[in-house]
Amino acid sequence: MKLLEDKILQDGRVLPGGILKIDSFLNHQLDVALITELGKEFYRLFSSARVTKILTVESSGIALAFAAAQCFSVPVVFAKKGHHKNVGSDVYTADVFSFTKGIPYTMTVSKAYLGAEDNVLVIDDFLANGAAAEGLLSILGQAGAKLAGIGIAVEKGFQPGGAQLRGRGIHVESLAIIDAMTDDSIVFKAQ
Ligand code: 5GP
Repeated sequence: MKLLEDKILQDGRVLPGGILKIDSFLNHQLDVALITELGKEFYRLFSSARVTKILTVESSGIALAFAAAQCFSVPVVFAKKGHHKNVGSDVYTADVFSFTKGIPYTMTVSKAYLGAEDNVLVIDDFLANGAAAEGLLSILGQAGAKLAGIGIAVEKGFQPGGAQLRGRGIHVESLAIIDAMTDDSIVFKAQ
């Protein structure tokens, strides 16, 4: 999606360790007009999938999921990171290794908000090694919910997550796919 690619080229910064920093519009400050357009694009890409719920993980996935959910007119459920007393004990959990923090964490979703009747679109900000997506898929599996597809804002195509998920026949749509990045250049996959 050219709008997102242009924004990444304009405002993104490449950090050591293969991390793209996009704090100015998605990961800290939110560019609401841009994120609204990303939500519409997710809707265009998955509009035939009969989505009943959107699942993401806190915190950076929430704004994207919210923007998409406005188009689908469905609720958003976000997995919480860690164990939360106020979520209760009737929960689905998945242990995930955080790419950016370099430590494991537990995703938690209350059983009240996800069930076998749901057809779920998973949305997240980045796809790198695929650990966050796998955690969300594990939670869907525990709920017996169906997967409508996975929508990602920025996929780092030089990491294996996207290829692994697509290789299993999962419908993955990434609005921008980065083929390569260095301190002073970001190369997108032609889409
Ligand atoms: P994965 O689990 O696919 O390895 O990584 C995806 C998760 O790690 C995303 O939820 C995102 O929060 C974070 N992440 C991975 N790569 C990057 C990156 O290059 N930049 C930022 N800002 N977050 C990333």
